Amino acid sequence: MGQMAQKIIKENKDEILKLLNTAYSEEWLAYYQYWIGAQVAKGPMRKTIADEFLEHAKEEFDHAKKVCDRIIQLGGTPVLDPEEWKKHAICRYDAPVDEFIVTLLEQNLEAERCAIGRYQQICNLCMSAKDIETFHVARHILSDELDHEQDLEDYLEDIKTSMEHMSKK
Ligand code: FE
Ligand code: FE
Ligand code: MG
Repeated sequence: MGQMAQKIIKENKDEILKLLNTAYSEEWLAYYQYWIGAQVAKGPMRKTIADEFLEHAKEEFDHAKKVCDRIIQLGGTPVLDPEEWKKHAICRYDAPVDEFIVTLLEQNLEAERCAIGRYQQICNLCMSAKDIETFHVARHILSDELDHEQDLEDYLEDIKTSMEHMSKK
């Protein structure tokens, strides 16, 4: 626990820690949603998209670590029990019950858009609380989430375009 780290953001510490634990829980759920989706996916460009899912899963895992480090530095406790993840998370976890790749892309896209909102929210709070370091952490994760959104949108667009193209033949 960083003594000075906590002192500089004294007033908003609890609110920031609460949001960080929300983001932390959402990262683990996002990690699993991508990882398990990559295992069961069926449909066009399966291998390519499953590899992208695994790459994103790894990045969500790295985000969880970064958020965890900051929670500890601020004197908080990261969520310790996986059973608590869904209670702290606001973004929803979508189990890949329908294994069709387009459904998985759409579910992950929704999760990414939710994550973008979360880190934007954390950045806003940190700006008003003058918590420069948490802002920095959240801002870097935010740019990864924006990349993830774009990647998924691109795949969905490509699949849609080729399906339209094929139906014209
Ligand atoms: Fe993430
Ligand atoms: Fe992401
Ligand atoms: Mg990517």
